[in-house]
Amino acid sequence: MSDSVESLDVTIIEELAAQIRGEIVLPQNSGYDETRKVYNAMIDKFPGMIVKCVDVADVIYAVNFGRENNLLVAVRGGGHNGGGLGLCDGGLVIDLSGIKFVHVDTAEKTVRVGGGNVWGEVDHATHPLGLAVPAGIISSTGVGGLTLGGGVGHLSRKYGLTIDNLLEADMVLADGSFVTVNASQNTDLFWAIRGGGGNFGIVTSFKFQAHEVKTVFGGPILWPIERVEEIMEWYHGFIHDATEDLNGFITTMVIPGAPFPEHLHNKQFCGIVWCYVGDLEKADEVFKPIRAMDPIFEFVGEMPYPSIQTLFDGMMPPGLQWYWRADFFNELGPEVRAQHLKFGSKIPTPLSQMHMYPISGAAARPGKEDTPWAYRDAKYAGVIVGVDPDPANADKITAWCKDYWAGLHPHAAGGAYSNFMMDEGEDRVKASYRHNYDRLVQIKGKYDPANFFSVNQNIQPG
Ligand SMILES: Cc1cc2nc3c(=O)[nH]c(=O)nc-3n(C[C@H](O)[C@H](O)[C@H](O)COP(=O)(O)OP(=O)(O)OC[C@H]3O[C@@H](n4cnc5c(N)ncnc54)[C@H](O)[C@@H]3O)c2cc1C
Repeated sequence: MSDSVESLDVTIIEELAAQIRGEIVLPQNSGYDETRKVYNAMIDKFPGMIVKCVDVADVIYAVNFGRENNLLVAVRGGGHNGGGLGLCDGGLVIDLSGIKFVHVDTAEKTVRVGGGNVWGEVDHATHPLGLAVPAGIISSTGVGGLTLGGGVGHLSRKYGLTIDNLLEADMVLADGSFVTVNASQNTDLFWAIRGGGGNFGIVTSFKFQAHEVKTVFGGPILWPIERVEEIMEWYHGFIHDATEDLNGFITTMVIPGAPFPEHLHNKQFCGIVWCYVGDLEKADEVFKPIRAMDPIFEFVGEMPYPSIQTLFDGMMPPGLQWYWRADFFNELGPEVRAQHLKFGSKIPTPLSQMHMYPISGAAARPGKEDTPWAYRDAKYAGVIVGVDPDPANADKITAWCKDYWAGLHPHAAGGAYSNFMMDEGEDRVKASYRHNYDRLVQIKGKYDPANFFSVNQNIQPG
C-alpha cells in the first residue's frame, strides 16, 4: 500500500518546492484541473500532487521524493496514452512537459529530444534541415510514450519503428541515479526501453537517427465501405511487396466534413492513408496500381512532411472521449474481412475508426528478440478507437469498439501493440511481449525491484 500525498506533512512538500526549479501543483491550487487533464477526456483522475519538472535535477528530486514517501507515481510525457497512464489517482505525477529541447546534428543526422517533447516539435525543428525521425501520425503525441512503446507511422516501412531509430537515452532510475543507455553502455536497459514502455525509468533525453525526408506524396484514398472486403484482400497482396518507399495504413472510417466534398460527409468508407517518400517523379507510377482499384475519392498529392504529420490533427483535438482496443494480425482472411464489413458499416460516431498499420519492410527486419517489440513477424498492428466529443456517447463508442474487437480477436495473432492498449491487465501485457516477457521481468527486477514505475503496461519485477 502506498501512502497518500494527502497524509504528508506540508513542510515536506515545501522542502521539495525549494529544491526544484519547476512547479508543484496541488488539488487546492488554481490550475489543478487544467494540469490534470490528459488528451483522452474519458480519463478523469485526481492526483495528490503534480510536479512539473523543467530539468533532470527536478526529475531526480521528484523520484527520490516519491520513493522516500512511498507514493504511487505516474510519469507524464505527452499525456496521449489511451488508458491515461500518464496520470494516477491520489499519488504523485511527475510531469515532463517542461523538459523540451530539440537539437539537430546535421553532420551526424541525429536529433536530441527532451523527455517531454511532442512529435510536432521534433518535425518543426528537423524539417527545414531536410530531416525527419520516424514517429506516429498525430503531431501532439508525446515523444516519450510513443518511443518507449515502439512507434509506428508513415515512415515505418522505409525506416523502421521509432525504436529502431533510437540511438541513446538518458534516464533517471527508481533509485534516483542517472544513467546513459546505448548500444555499448547499460545495454540491458537500452534493449528494455525499445518497446518495454516506462517500466524501467524516466527518460529525460532521447537521441534518434534522422533520415533525409523533405517532401512526400501522400494522403487518403477512399472506397465505399461495401467494397472493404475486396480492397482489404487486394491491399494484403499489395502492400508487403510494394516498394519500401511506400507506406499505407488501412482504415474503416467516416468522412466527418471538410476538406472532403459534401457528398461524402457522414458516410462510411474503407480508406488507405498513403505516404510515399521516394523519387517524386515516380509517384504517379507507384500509385498506378492503387488508382486501378477505382477509388471513389482521393486526397493525395505532394506535401511537406510536417503536413502529412498534421493532416489529422484538426479532426482529433485534445478533449474528446476515446475508447481503445487493439491486436496484431498475421492475415486478412475472409472471416476477418467479413468482420470489417460488419462493423465498418455501423461506425457509431463520425470520429470512430479502425486502423491497421503494416509491419513490413524496415519495420519487419529486426529479429523478434532484438527489441521487446515481439511481433515483427505479424503483418499488421491493428487498433479500433471509439471517439466522440460528447460524454453522453461514451457507452455507445465503447460498445462498438468492444464488439468490433471481439469479432476480430479470434483471428488475431495474440497480443497487441502496447501503445494501442488501454489498462487491460497482466495477461494482455504478457501476450504482447510474448517470448520477450521473461527477459523484461528480469531487467525490471534488477533496476526497479519495488515496481516504483508501476503506472504503465506494467511488467512485474522478477
Ligand atoms: C490521437 C493519437 C494518435 C496516436 N497515433 C499513434 C501512432 O501513429 N503511432 C504510434 O505508435 N502510437 C500512436 N498513438 C499511441 C501513443 O503512442 C501512445 O498513446 C503513447 O503512450 C503516447 O505517449 P505520451 O508520452 O503522449 O503519453 P503519456 O500518457 O504521457 O505516457 C504514456 C506512458 O509512457 C510513459 N512515459 C511517457 N514519457 C516518458 C518518459 N519520457 N520516460 C519514461 N516514461 C514515459 C508514461 O509513464 C506512461 O506509462 C497515438 C495516440 C493518440 C491519442
